[in-house]
Amino acid sequence: MPGDGSGDPIDALIDAAAKTGIDRLVQVGVDVASSRWGAELAARNAAILAAVAIHPNEAPILSDLDEALREIEALAGQPRVRGVGETGLDTFRTGEDGRHAQEESFRAHIAIAKRHGKALIIHDRDAHRDVLRVLDEEGAPETVVMHCFSGDADFAAECVRRGFHLSFAGTVTFASAGALRAAAEITPAEQIMVETDAPYLTPMPHRGRPNASYLIPLTVRALAETRGDDVDTLCAAISANGERVFGPWR
Ligand SMILES: [Zn+2]
Repeated sequence: MPGDGSGDPIDALIDAAAKTGIDRLVQVGVDVASSRWGAELAARNAAILAAVAIHPNEAPILSDLDEALREIEALAGQPRVRGVGETGLDTFRTGEDGRHAQEESFRAHIAIAKRHGKALIIHDRDAHRDVLRVLDEEGAPETVVMHCFSGDADFAAECVRRGFHLSFAGTVTFASAGALRAAAEITPAEQIMVETDAPYLTPMPHRGRPNASYLIPLTVRALAETRGDDVDTLCAAISANGERVFGPWR
C-alpha cells in the first residue's frame, strides 16, 4: 500500500488514488457497521460518496435482519449516501440455506432504493436469472448498477436493454476472462462503470496483491484496449456515468 507509514491509512489510499486521477470514489458497505462507516467518511470527505447495504453473504447470518434493514434505510436517507448496495444473490458461501433470507433482504433493498431515489448496486454471483426474476417481480429502481459484472455478452446485452449500468472490476484484465471482455465490448459507453471490489480482484500485473483505488487505471486501460476506445474518451464517459448514477460529488 502506498503512503509513508504515518497518518491515516484511509487518507493515504484516497490520496494515492487521486494522484492517479481517480479523484471520486464510492465507498460500498456490506453490513450495518461498514455502511455507517462509509456514510460517515462520505459526510466529511468531498472525494467520497457512500452506498449502504447488508451483503447477501451477511443477510442469512444476522440474528435480526429486520432491525439491520431499518438501520440501512435510515442511512439511505443521508444526502451523501447515493447508493443501496451491495445487495443481491450469492449462495456460494451460504449454500441453499441462505437463499430465503437473501431474497427477502434483496427485495427489501430494492424497496429502500426506490423509496429514497438512490442507485441499486447488485451483487450477483452465479445468480443472473434469479437476480433478473426478483427485479422483475419487484420492479427495478430507475438506476441499477451490476457490480463486478461477471456475465457473458448475452447477459450483458440483456442488462443493457434494461438500462442497467455494468461495472467492471480487475477481472477484465485476467487472461481467462474472454467472455467478460466480450461483455465489455458490447456495452455502450454510457452504461460502463469501473470498480475495484477491493481488496479483491486486483488487476494484472498485480493480481494476488491487495486491491485499492489507485490501481483502477489498469482496469480502465484494459477496458479501453478491449473496446478499441481512446483511453481519455472512455475516462470521460465513465466519469460522466458516475455523476449521473450517483449524483455530483462536489
Ligand atoms: Zn460483490
